[in-house]
Amino acid sequence: MTQQQLLLRLIELDAQIARLEEQHQRNGLSAFEDRLARLRQEWDVKLAARTQLEADIEAGEAHFDQDTLLNKMLELDELQPQLPGLQASLVEVEQELEEARPEEAERLALLASRLEAFNRERAEVVGQLPSEINLAYTKNRRVDEVKQSRCRCRLEVPDHYLRQLRAGHAWVCNACGSLLVQNLNP
Ligand SMILES: [Zn+2]
Repeated sequence: MTQQQLLLRLIELDAQIARLEEQHQRNGLSAFEDRLARLRQEWDVKLAARTQLEADIEAGEAHFDQDTLLNKMLELDELQPQLPGLQASLVEVEQELEEARPEEAERLALLASRLEAFNRERAEVVGQLPSEINLAYTKNRRVDEVKQSRCRCRLEVPDHYLRQLRAGHAWVCNACGSLLVQNLNP
């Protein structure tokens, strides 16, 4: 492979690796976890409200007037039937989360093995490039095309290097440090 081909492959690999790493960092369970957190919070709030209402009603007329007590009873009557449904939802989402775990683990393992393969190939590509080219690539994270015999900094590339570029070699501009190849889309 020419240096140009190696560099083009390196760019491709880095894009793939970045994409896979992003997917690997994403939490595939967060939708379940968010729903579960919301349901748990609702459950806690309603449970606390029920405990309070029951305590107030038990305290009775010694602490509250009849209207207030009646309202509290109505409120409890309204609250009570909501709890079993809420509990059922909680159990359901907990179950869904547990069921999703193996699939998520599988997804992450697959991504990890693909990342490993790409990183291995990347190391091979880097190993075939001269260190000054690797250094320039690491520093700039970009490769440019020579255009009208010039670098992006407008420096005219010497004939000798133009011929090397046409032969598939890469060149590091000695004025601006850009990494040049003949053609980015051969
Ligand atoms: Zn330059």
